Amino acid sequence: MDVHPLVRKIAASDTTNSATHYHIFWSNESLDWKPFPTKEEATILADQIKKPDEGFTVVERDGQCERCKIFKSASKNGAA
Ligand SMILES: [Zn+2]
Repeated sequence: MDVHPLVRKIAASDTTNSATHYHIFWSNESLDWKPFPTKEEATILADQIKKPDEGFTVVERDGQCERCKIFKSASKNGAA
């Protein structure tokens, strides 16, 4: 079966995008840009970089993650 290169490209990026990952959601309501593969890693890093009076929640995201979409499209600019 012949697959159009664009279809292959979409399918490939879907594979990486659909992976469940985690973000740190800070108590000031900002969502950290960095995706973590596990909740543990996000929690450990957040504990290390948070300010003493700052709280956070680790939130789960999937391939439809708005945060990663924004970050990826921004970093892709000029790198075509
Ligand atoms: Zn994400």
